[in-house]
Amino acid sequence: MLLIHCPYCDETLPELEFAYAGEAHIARPADPSALTDEEWRDFLFIRTNARGKHFERWRHVHGCGRFFNACRDTVSDRFLKTYKAGEERPAETELEGVE
Ligand SMILES: [Zn+2]
Repeated sequence: MLLIHCPYCDETLPELEFAYAGEAHIARPADPSALTDEEWRDFLFIRTNARGKHFERWRHVHGCGRFFNACRDTVSDRFLKTYKAGEERPAETELEGVE
């Protein structure tokens, strides 16, 4: 079972407390009506689907209910870091050697 650290509650809890909410750091276009159909499609559906370090959103649904971001290694399925929504993506040096 995965253990996930909620940066708001400052607790590490079982995965069952949380819900995956898609890839992180994808900003909604300021004016969607100005986009082409292909640009809109890309915003809605095209994701990096990275092998290795992947930045994603999670929600602590059975706790504080808040959304936060995480960096998870998709190969080992280990969380490298979790951080509050709105915070900058961690630098690569912050993620090295983290297990
Ligand atoms: Zn929480």
